[in-house]
Amino acid sequence: MGGTFDPIHYGHLLAAEEAHTAFWLSEVVFVPTGQPPHKARQKVTSPEDRYLMTELATMDCPYFRVSRVEIERKGESYTIDTLRTLRSSPEYAGSLFYFITGLDAVLDIVSWKDPQELMELCRFVAVSRYGYTHKRMDELPQELRSKIIPLEIPLLAISSTELRERIKRNRSIRFLVPPAVEQFIRKKSLYKNQTEE
Ligand code: ATP
Ligand code: MG
Repeated sequence: MGGTFDPIHYGHLLAAEEAHTAFWLSEVVFVPTGQPPHKARQKVTSPEDRYLMTELATMDCPYFRVSRVEIERKGESYTIDTLRTLRSSPEYAGSLFYFITGLDAVLDIVSWKDPQELMELCRFVAVSRYGYTHKRMDELPQELRSKIIPLEIPLLAISSTELRERIKRNRSIRFLVPPAVEQFIRKKSLYKNQTEE
């Protein structure tokens, strides 16, 4: 599961948990983006802090892992490069990969690098996201759409954008992110004086 995770929240964790159960996954690997190409114009928290928050959020769950593959790669992060790296790693020899995304992200897939080839390297899962219906997958070209597996999950109307806004306005983020993530954000004063573009 790839994401900027700026910050990670219960929406991400629930999507991973539901996909884990639905597809009998042996583990879910969270891959915080190094440099997100589609967020180039907006201020993004340092990769190291986003990585640490992802570790804190997933530490209680034995089948959740966090990978540093994107934050250690130079330049912009493309999912296709990440999948090639993970697939060629000996620890994943013979593994079948599922890429977990929210419906909003999957609708954007035509703008990703080499979407056709990406679909050959893994199965795509599109989980429900507040404000979107799976019907919207009809907007995608047939050859992509046919390879994406829709997965209904309970809707949690949470986004990192809204969390950053809440912090800026001194509103609580309790029960929206794991307690350790909330403490980390407070300790490092993240998102306090940030302006969204
Ligand atoms: P931002 O508002 O900064 O874009 P975000 O909440 O969308 O943040 P991302 O890091 O962009 O989080 O998302 C990573 C992946 O998790 C994407 O595939 C996204 O669709 C999915 N996702 C994020 N929030 C939810 C949620 N509440 N329910 C289901 N999927 C989600
Ligand atoms: Mg997003």
